[in-house]
Amino acid sequence: RRNTSVGTPFWMAPEVIACEQQYDYSYDARCDVWSLVFNFFSDFEARPSVTHLLEHPFIKQAQGKDVALQQQLAALILEQQEAGYEIICCSDIHVQISVETIISHLQKRYDELQVYTYVGDILIALNPFQNLSIYSPQFSKLYHGMKRADNPPHIFATADAAYRGMVTFCKDQCIIISGESGAGKTESAHLIVQHLTFLGKANNRTLREKILQVNPLVEAFGNACTAINDNSSRFGKYLEMKFTPTGAVIGAKISEYLLEKSRVIKQATGEKNFHIFYYIYAGLYHQDKLKTYSLPDRTPPRYIDSQHRTVMQDIVSSKLYKEQFDAIQEGFRNIGFTEEEVNSVYRILSAILNTGNIEFASITTQHQTDKSEVPNAEALETAASLLSIGPEELQEALTSQCVVTRGETIIRTNTVDKAADVRDAMSKALYGRLFSWIVNRINSLLQPDMNICAAESGMNVGILDIFGFENFKKNSFEQLCINIANEQIQFYFNQHIFALEQMEYQSEGVDASLVEYEDNRPILDMFLQKPMGLLSLMDEESRFPQATDQTLVDKFEDNLRCKYFWIPKRVELCFGIQHYAGKVMYNVNGFLEKNRDTLPADIVVVLRTSENKLLQQLFSSPLTKTGNLATSRARVTAASRSLPPQLGSGRTKVDTMEMMRHPEETTSMRRQTVASYFRYSLMDLLSKMVVGQPHFVRCIKPNDDRQALRFCKERVMVQLRYTGILETVNIRRQGYSHRITFEEFVNRYYYLAFRAHQMPETSRENAVAILQRAKLEGWVLGTTKVFLRYYHVEQLNLLLREVI
Ligand code: ADP
Ligand code: MG
Repeated sequence: RRNTSVGTPFWMAPEVIACEQQYDYSYDARCDVWSLVFNFFSDFEARPSVTHLLEHPFIKQAQGKDVALQQQLAALILEQQEAGYEIICCSDIHVQISVETIISHLQKRYDELQVYTYVGDILIALNPFQNLSIYSPQFSKLYHGMKRADNPPHIFATADAAYRGMVTFCKDQCIIISGESGAGKTESAHLIVQHLTFLGKANNRTLREKILQVNPLVEAFGNACTAINDNSSRFGKYLEMKFTPTGAVIGAKISEYLLEKSRVIKQATGEKNFHIFYYIYAGLYHQDKLKTYSLPDRTPPRYIDSQHRTVMQDIVSSKLYKEQFDAIQEGFRNIGFTEEEVNSVYRILSAILNTGNIEFASITTQHQTDKSEVPNAEALETAASLLSIGPEELQEALTSQCVVTRGETIIRTNTVDKAADVRDAMSKALYGRLFSWIVNRINSLLQPDMNICAAESGMNVGILDIFGFENFKKNSFEQLCINIANEQIQFYFNQHIFALEQMEYQSEGVDASLVEYEDNRPILDMFLQKPMGLLSLMDEESRFPQATDQTLVDKFEDNLRCKYFWIPKRVELCFGIQHYAGKVMYNVNGFLEKNRDTLPADIVVVLRTSENKLLQQLFSSPLTKTGNLATSRARVTAASRSLPPQLGSGRTKVDTMEMMRHPEETTSMRRQTVASYFRYSLMDLLSKMVVGQPHFVRCIKPNDDRQALRFCKERVMVQLRYTGILETVNIRRQGYSHRITFEEFVNRYYYLAFRAHQMPETSRENAVAILQRAKLEGWVLGTTKVFLRYYHVEQLNLLLREVI
């Protein structure tokens, strides 16, 4: 029952180990599930006496409750303490921690509104579903530069650790927040930004305020009310906060992933469109400007309310919407958008709503049958006027298309359905490009000032808030992309926590027991492999004009042979996937269209004639994304060199290279599909993440009713299981999460054992000298590296702070 591969701290004596099984884990409301012994000792501020120790619940339950043995144990503990042993943590003891243990621990803490708990160096955050008073600046101060065990677990402690890691080691950091929809990821991301802006005390107060306004602004455009979450993020977001080498904040940058554009034109029952559409109604109504922006004000426009469920008055008189609108306007102004730009944004939003109201009716003449016209010219004219284009041209582009066949241009008319599709495609494109433009504009406004700090010498902390795993009654293309992204993040997590660690033990000749974990790589391969992965197959099918959703399913069935994929017998147009987080049934209806995401050339041509500067910009190139791709290319290539072996070789690397070729292809050879762009962004995201030191926050939703203080064991259990928390506990207890070369180790910590001017040789012996001087226990040496446990680094850094 003991880990023999490391030195044996005194309290691993069999007597101590014998007692922990009966030990009541819940007695101490402090954090870490297995730092019980640590907490046990920190219960005694002064040196305890034997009598003291015998009163302690830990001892009271020890040694089969045999008092004589307990006395011996207490004496042993004191003796060892006299001998100068530093008592650190019990993570070397093999406590059989089960999911049930963790859950009851979490539940007990949740009942006391302790929503944060550490599992090793991972932070578990339970959604409190009520406002807590633990996020004030006083709390930021409390957590500033403190050791983890000094305070109860907190999201600020995670942000603080990332910040310290960056400043101390001049290394980029990334905080990866995961969890189901509504688990609290976005709130956590806000809190991290809040603490980081507190830490990155720039003299520049305005910059800090600007950074704090980025999230609310972007979320007004990218979040919406869903059945699960009133403020659900409908895009993935990676926010990088940029700092000087001394840790002053100097800028920020957002990358956005996979905005759910289809929400603009249609929402499921009980769900809403993106927040901003409601905000502008309430805000502009109060300013008496609905007419200025020609917002349809008699009944809610179709895009907001296709089923006529809402009343205009409810929207315009909403106090919440109005306040949010004011905040958005303030955000736009503070961050530095010009008045003209903001006006253009509102005009485009209104144009989208008016476009949605354009109707089509079929006209049958002698010669032509499938022709359509617009019976409500007013909507069309308003939309055209807001877009600063001619109404006739717009109508032409909606109701007909130019086709070039054998060198001849012919005009084909659109059926009513086709015209409606073109209309909706235009609205989606307008919104999607507007969103990207806003994000890019924020980035250029918050770019670090080159005079203060050359971009290369700056460092950053990235915060990933990606849409959680989704499994609804009906799952479509959007859910598939979201779930693949989650699959990829889980893979990265596994790589970081398990695979890389174990490979390194082996190559360094360190004997450590291997922890088994659920490797989701085969599923990921099934999705991403070329040319036979699911995404590639879908792309191939998308290129055939005559393909249908049925032929797509058939193609999947013929080519995907793997236990994670199946076609159910009696359900049409469906396939099932066994994700790491559970089984999901996908409905293929509309997959091909969504993947093609075509915007007819006629529409692009018309929009480019616009006199509105912003619109011209949005459509100046057929693919707004291409610019982004080109600029990030250098970084991805550079990053792929420093990818961990698993990521940098084999499949993933090939993918990166192929995605690199894609931008050119898309402009000259073939149209880019959503799937291929998605695959590219995933690689881009990963390349950003792998260069940094990761920190993980796992958000957990304690119940599905958004009720405060309700802890549903089964729901928590499911989430703990699929995120691999239990395996994480095991590997963190047994493993060495920090592996540092002798050279780097000596360079970092030589102050602890040598004088500043000594400049010791960066050798194995000197590394050992430092470790011994720091009185650490439980480390091991590999052939080139020092292997440290997760709590060692914190101790070393703390000692370092004392001597420097
Ligand atoms: P996710 O981004 O994971 O989908 P959110 O961060 O949007 O989830 O959280 C959903 C809701 O839960 C929030 O709107 C808020 O009401 C509540 N919530 C989440 N975290 C906290 C917190 N730390 N304190 C108070 N309420 C929270
Ligand atoms: Mg969110």
